[in-house]
Amino acid sequence: MTSEPGPGGGLFLRRSGSAGAGGAGSAEAPATAGAADAAGAAAGAPGATVTGASGEGAGGAPDRENPHFPGEIVPPEPAAMRRVCGHFATGVTVVTSVADGSWIGATVNSFSSVSLEPPWVLFCLRLDSRLLTAIRSCGHFAVSILATEQAGVATRFAAPGLPSFDGLDCLTGAAGSPILRDSLGYLECKLAEEYPGGDHRIVVGAVTALGVLDERAVGGDAGPLTFYRGRLARLDKECER
Ligand SMILES: Cc1cc2nc3c(=O)[nH]c(=O)nc-3n(C[C@H](O)[C@H](O)[C@H](O)COP(=O)(O)OP(=O)(O)OC[C@H]3O[C@@H](n4cnc5c(N)ncnc54)[C@H](O)[C@@H]3O)c2cc1C
Repeated sequence: MTSEPGPGGGLFLRRSGSAGAGGAGSAEAPATAGAADAAGAAAGAPGATVTGASGEGAGGAPDRENPHFPGEIVPPEPAAMRRVCGHFATGVTVVTSVADGSWIGATVNSFSSVSLEPPWVLFCLRLDSRLLTAIRSCGHFAVSILATEQAGVATRFAAPGLPSFDGLDCLTGAAGSPILRDSLGYLECKLAEEYPGGDHRIVVGAVTALGVLDERAVGGDAGPLTFYRGRLARLDKECER
């Protein structure tokens, strides 16, 4: 077996003896090299190199003309990216800022903490985002971490058009970005850095203030809103370790 960079930087596992010209979906399959190597070499598992000419490969594993992983392998097109990455469960935030004196916000699940010292966080926004324009212009934003009960808020701030803050209990951060009062917690940030991220921009914020808002969170009873496979959901329960 050989492994070599595939388009987009991924690794392709090449079936031994193959010229590698069989086209997508046959002998070549994008894979995470380490995992496939370990699992495949051991037992002729899906994705393994098959060395036998026919019938049985090394170790008595059955030969496979079209070795493949248990799940389907598809090109990294947008729909596939959405579907596969949708299996990575996240929390849900609303990122807010100020645009021409008015509050603006959007639902964001690409939020992540980056660094403790200095205290930095990041999230990604579409290039054509009005929120991005606002953050660039005023230089600050706030992140509200949503609770299970705020699924309607997440839907509101994900809808096309400028979102309305009507009926929402909001606090005003020191720099002026609104914070959703019913959230589990919040972070106020100064725009620190921006990086290219394909059709998105990676926005890095330096945290200037933060806090837990929902006392139930302190007691451990409040549930975070989660996003999994395209659906807003509640966190069920902690796993046994
Ligand atoms: C659970 C969840 C998580 C999400 N996570 C993210 C995330 O991490 N990152 C992300 O980018 N999105 C995310 N979204 C989608 C995002 O919430 C919505 O797309 C939201 O509307 C984005 O707001 P915005 O201000 O960034 O973009 P908007 O400015 O509202 O852009 C949305 C559309 O409006 C158009 N538009 C821009 N300016 C104008 C104008 N002046 N007049 C008319 N139309 C205009 C844009 O071209 C674009 O097509 C998520 C949605 C959900 C449900």
